[in-house]
Amino acid sequence: MTNPHEAAMLITGLHERFCDELDELMRSFSAQLPTPDRPECRLSLKSARWAGYYWWRPNCCWYSIPHACTVGGDSYTNTVAHEVCHAYASQLHRGSAWHGETWQLLMRHLGHEPQRTVTVDMKLVRKVGNLLWARYRGAARGSMRQVEDPLMLKGGSDVNSQSKDR
Ligand SMILES: [Zn+2]
Repeated sequence: MTNPHEAAMLITGLHERFCDELDELMRSFSAQLPTPDRPECRLSLKSARWAGYYWWRPNCCWYSIPHACTVGGDSYTNTVAHEVCHAYASQLHRGSAWHGETWQLLMRHLGHEPQRTVTVDMKLVRKVGNLLWARYRGAARGSMRQVEDPLMLKGGSDVNSQSKDR
């Protein structure tokens, strides 16, 4: 179990590092390729069924703090890579399969297995989420300041969790 402030810092750091690595990769390609915009990093206190998701309007990766705290930093690293790769893959090849070849290639470039879903104990995620929500709701402070509620964004296109397979 990781504490929420550590999880928030870890996620933010990983997100920036993976974006740096993919920006570097894009620069090494030919100039004919479109240059993807760097996605924003957003954190959520909600314990929804998704561990993370990418949404392109606006260009944002959402990360669940309760999931990250529950599975721990090492396991959650794969989820951060997963969402960052969606951001770049979907801009490189619009209309391509969501977990298709481009996404898989970028995942491997970052040194991660391209898995579509992660296995989590949702009971535990909800318990952690309820505790965090009670504590930080309406009074986000310090490193939790950027925590927002992604449920306002309807129709997120991707779910990275055990229960859904899209
Ligand atoms: Zn995905």
